[in-house]
Amino acid sequence: MPEFAAHHALGTGSPNPNGAGKKDEPNAWRSPVAASPAGYQQMGSPAMGQAPNQYAGTPAQYNAAVQQESYFPQQPTPPAYLPYQGDQDVNNLAGQMGAVGLGADQAAQPKNKKKHRHAYHNLEGPGGSSQAFSGTPQDGAPPQYLNQNSPQVGGAQWMEPQITPAMSQFPAPANTLFSPGAQASPMQYAARTPAAPHQIAGGAAIGSAQGRVDPEQIPSVPKSRDAPARYYLENVYPTMEHHLPPPAVIPFVAFDQGNSSPKFARLTLNNIPLSAQALASTCLPLGMVLQPLAAQQEGEQPVPVLDFGETGPPRCTRCRAYINPFMQFKAGGNKVVCNMCTYPMDVPGDYFAPTDQSGVRVDRLQRPELTLGTVDFMVPKEYWSKEPVGLRWLFLIDVTAEAVNRGFLVGFCEGIVNALYGEPEEKAEESGTTTRIPKGAKVGIVTFDKEMHFYNLSPNLTTAQMLVMSDLEDPFVPLSEGLFVDPEESKAVIKSLLSQLPSMFAEFNFPEPALLPTLNSAVAALSATGGKIVCSLAALPTWGPGRLFLRDDGNMHNTDAEKKLLNTEHPGFKKVAEKMVQGGIGIDFFMAAPSGGYLDIATIGHVSATTGGEVFYYPNFHSPRDTLKLSKEIKHTVTRETGYQALMKVRCSNGLQVSAYHGNFYHHTFGADLEFGVIDADKAIGVMFSYDGKLDPKLDAHFQSALLYTTASGERRVRCTNIVASVSPNTGECMKFVDQDAVVNIIAKEAAARMTEKNLKEIRGALTEKTVDILAGYRKNFTGNSPPGQLVLPENLKEFGMYILGLIKSRAFKAGKEPTDRRVHDMRMIKSMGPLELSLYLYPRIVAIHDLDEKDGFANEKGHLVMPEGIRASFSKVEEGGAYIVDNGQVCLLWLHTQVSPNLLEDLFGEGNNSLKALDPFQSSLPNLDTHLNAQVRNILQYMEGTRASKALTIQLARQGLDGAEYEFARLLYEDRNNEAQSYVDWLVHVHRHIQLELAGQRKKEDSGDGVGSTFVGLRTPYWG
Ligand SMILES: [Zn+2]
Repeated sequence: MPEFAAHHALGTGSPNPNGAGKKDEPNAWRSPVAASPAGYQQMGSPAMGQAPNQYAGTPAQYNAAVQQESYFPQQPTPPAYLPYQGDQDVNNLAGQMGAVGLGADQAAQPKNKKKHRHAYHNLEGPGGSSQAFSGTPQDGAPPQYLNQNSPQVGGAQWMEPQITPAMSQFPAPANTLFSPGAQASPMQYAARTPAAPHQIAGGAAIGSAQGRVDPEQIPSVPKSRDAPARYYLENVYPTMEHHLPPPAVIPFVAFDQGNSSPKFARLTLNNIPLSAQALASTCLPLGMVLQPLAAQQEGEQPVPVLDFGETGPPRCTRCRAYINPFMQFKAGGNKVVCNMCTYPMDVPGDYFAPTDQSGVRVDRLQRPELTLGTVDFMVPKEYWSKEPVGLRWLFLIDVTAEAVNRGFLVGFCEGIVNALYGEPEEKAEESGTTTRIPKGAKVGIVTFDKEMHFYNLSPNLTTAQMLVMSDLEDPFVPLSEGLFVDPEESKAVIKSLLSQLPSMFAEFNFPEPALLPTLNSAVAALSATGGKIVCSLAALPTWGPGRLFLRDDGNMHNTDAEKKLLNTEHPGFKKVAEKMVQGGIGIDFFMAAPSGGYLDIATIGHVSATTGGEVFYYPNFHSPRDTLKLSKEIKHTVTRETGYQALMKVRCSNGLQVSAYHGNFYHHTFGADLEFGVIDADKAIGVMFSYDGKLDPKLDAHFQSALLYTTASGERRVRCTNIVASVSPNTGECMKFVDQDAVVNIIAKEAAARMTEKNLKEIRGALTEKTVDILAGYRKNFTGNSPPGQLVLPENLKEFGMYILGLIKSRAFKAGKEPTDRRVHDMRMIKSMGPLELSLYLYPRIVAIHDLDEKDGFANEKGHLVMPEGIRASFSKVEEGGAYIVDNGQVCLLWLHTQVSPNLLEDLFGEGNNSLKALDPFQSSLPNLDTHLNAQVRNILQYMEGTRASKALTIQLARQGLDGAEYEFARLLYEDRNNEAQSYVDWLVHVHRHIQLELAGQRKKEDSGDGVGSTFVGLRTPYWG
């Protein structure tokens, strides 16, 4: 009997609240709803403006225990969200294409009817023009244009001298390409449906499988999000009863039943094949995405903090695993068997409790460590490397000319004030303390140009005292007292200093910052305690020791030299990064390139990546537009859950072993713990596992991550995350429990990790290969008697192909020119992105706001915000006169068609804003107006802001034909032919062709034609192969 099942055969005699067929716990969680104009409060919703947490009041935590005979019943789990299962569209495609179908037995399900919408605004001009560009070009378009590559979107930023303020952070000439009255734009071409019918390769094999692929019928990412999003508004996700987590991108309330919430950990396979060979038949990676400090949402139980005093938490005496719900007590409670290594050990006297006749400790329900998948343990001195103290925040502020002149310095200083003390209007609400950071945390400020300036911020001073350190070769910290202060006590001094810095340094105007010496003295200042550095930078640091130079002149594209630019060999920056990790220090950079210049993010960002920090990057920083984002992001970095001086260890049960880690951390040698100077709520790590034997199907597979860290308030803790999966001899069964988000995340992280060793073309090729491998493996081994010519997609990997195409088109991996600063920045982000952030990054959510239903954007009678359905990322979906929000978790564009209704513009932006040209191109938020539309859109934006990760949501206008940001809009239409890659339809046809070749035994790995693929083969890890 699996230990897991045995363990939970408890509470016999009591009714099972989670019995079969029981509906999930109702979920009273309410999505946030922005304050709306009084006249528009719909249906007297109680959630308007606030979200009462009713779920927390239910006694679910300890008595909804897990009392089934087994959590992994023979039957497949009931579908978590029925309406979504069996997407009819895909079946239709099978019919049309004779070639695409779903693997799982997909009986026809009722089709979701698109809800009737009434157009709130009367659009001018013909509406619904999506057919206009669906086939052939409009009159006047040169036919040969169809065969050209899509236009270059974006370009080397420092090669764009003509950047104007009206343009965006996405530089590209704002030329006249977009004139809807004339010929179709390149974007429109890119979105067209294939001009010629697709002939599916190997036509003979599939008989009549020839014909057009209807783009409507291929798996839709927006649909795969919308239906479960609606379901999880009203249902919780119980972590033991269901074995397939909700899509990462949607809000949901997880109910921890002993298995950790998917917000903390996701396995690629929640039902694990018996052997390496069985896993290989799926071609899927066996991995786990860990986000140990992930933010929870309203309605979820906070992670409990458990204190076992001097002895610390009970642990396995052999493998050192921490006590968890899956350890089994025996011999009347005297023995406990480790779920990782199966070692039976004596229960320490002070942890003893007898077991009842079913073998369950009588005190189990009072012990969170025996009932919850995620807990925090307080740990005693033996876990300390230095005395834990409240987190030291050290702000390093660039005061050179560019920072001063472009408004970056003033924005950064205001951002710190807002982060520490809140915006002025918020102050009144807060009682007692006015700071946002936890008690015990302290703050220090250092500015730098060609020398460093330290500030004594002691509360007994009337103004801060500046001490200049001009010794760049051998800098030291010139003050011992007053550098780090309690931000509450020194509030007046700090606020006054930050308000004066911009004018103080306006007269110096020194152009070149000396960064490395500043970092070294920051390390010296923090070495006794550890801490977190937040550093601004607005120019390439070309002064003093460790000065950098312009490595990327924009001409290295597609050469071996380009690969070098994505990495750093700089000994000074590498060394300071290691010193930081050793000292328990991490760093976030806020890097702005006001004139679009090169910053060598590869070298500077290396320090963030190694220490567990993050880079916030503002290419072409323009203060009127970007200051709000800057300010919000500083606030986020300071207020999100942050731990420092962290070590992480992942354990798994016998038969499996960790084979690789991917993420941003320091790893001394393989087998050693991962080290983080800092780690925060948004950071995720990918862990890969391999087999060191065959698993026992009678036992479950267990995974435990233990993050030893110091909290911002100065407590040394272990965040323990436990995940369990069943083991199945039937590998086909395992395919029903694949977690698409985890698979995509693991593959993306590994691809990003390889950017410095392989060239981009090879990586794109490998990603294509991997997609074909997985889908062909499924087709070959698990689809039984499907018609031979059918493209059969596993039910839980339906959108996998689209996400991988999104990865291939991402800034990190896309073909074509891309500044290396942007590539390396995105590459490192991918390495640390959690599943939510990555999902959005690989496929943006797009909402049409010109034809919102009256009720959209308001709370329904249950208090849940009604979100409009998402639309596909394709220009073919764009309607004339339309207005769209496009959010990829990094930027949020508001795209406006040239013929957008003046009424709509006035309703959205206020009186007088009745044409595109009348709008302020730099506005980064919507005004607060008394119109229905304005309230709807603000509510929708607030919802989106709540389901993001590290980047703040501000809007950026992309007015058709006017703004440079329109190129970013085009780039994000990932279903179209763009970014020098295929359209989604063409991509699926391409993948299908190679699957058929594979099935016929004729596939040559990597079809790029120049043979690089074969060189890649030799380097394949078990997973890439
Ligand atoms: Zn053990």
